[in-house]
Amino acid sequence: MFERGRLANDNPPRLRSFDDKGNRLDLVEYHPSYHELMRESIGSGLHVSTWQHDATPAPAPAEVARAARYYMVAQIENGHMCPVTMTRAAVAALGAEPGLAAQLMPKVGSATYDPRFAPWWEKTGITLGMGMTEKQGGTDVRANTTTALPSGDEYRLTGHKWFMSAPMSDAFLVLAQAPT
Ligand SMILES: Cc1cc2nc3c(=O)[nH]c(=O)nc-3n(C[C@H](O)[C@H](O)[C@H](O)COP(=O)(O)OP(=O)(O)OC[C@H]3O[C@@H](n4cnc5c(N)ncnc54)[C@H](O)[C@@H]3O)c2cc1C
Repeated sequence: MFERGRLANDNPPRLRSFDDKGNRLDLVEYHPSYHELMRESIGSGLHVSTWQHDATPAPAPAEVARAARYYMVAQIENGHMCPVTMTRAAVAALGAEPGLAAQLMPKVGSATYDPRFAPWWEKTGITLGMGMTEKQGGTDVRANTTTALPSGDEYRLTGHKWFMSAPMSDAFLVLAQAPT
């Protein structure tokens, strides 16, 4: 595992903007070792083991058990822990939208890591990223200026995010100011 961590960090992700025919891709390619680390951590449930399939908290000692295993993985490689961490954390917000949670949780809860660049509904497992930080607002998220305006059943987001470090996530929890 340490060797995988070394290889993943010696071979950083690369942006592939276009495919061979010139079509826009915006694909971020990772070294196979990164995918192996993801496969291990997701296969062990580190991304979701504190949640049940309906996005409600799993019974004790789920948090403690996960924290102990997470601590061990943190000794090996931290880059892949980012999407693992964000996926688990984003489920807390997903729980506020039971309809959306019912659609996404079967994929989020999967122990099969699926790194394919494909729509989320075609994949066996998905990860969730976060778009919180703005240049003027890191720790102090109240300084964020991105807006979320209701548009039918959805929200229209307008703003600028910075530091979205897991760009190949299948969905993003985006923090924005909505009308009160
Ligand atoms: C490796 C990495 C990956 C990341 N990935 C993501 C991502 O995927 N998505 C995303 O949205 N963000 C991501 N972030 C950004 C991260 O969330 C921010 O870096 C974090 O919120 C801190 O914000 P900042 O860097 O602007 O620091 P600042 O907010 O400028 O803080 C700088 C220092 O000031 C202190 N400080 C700030 N405000 C106060 C206060 N009011 N009182 C006392 N002390 C204060 C802080 O504790 C800190 O020590 C990532 C960051 C890192 C390092």
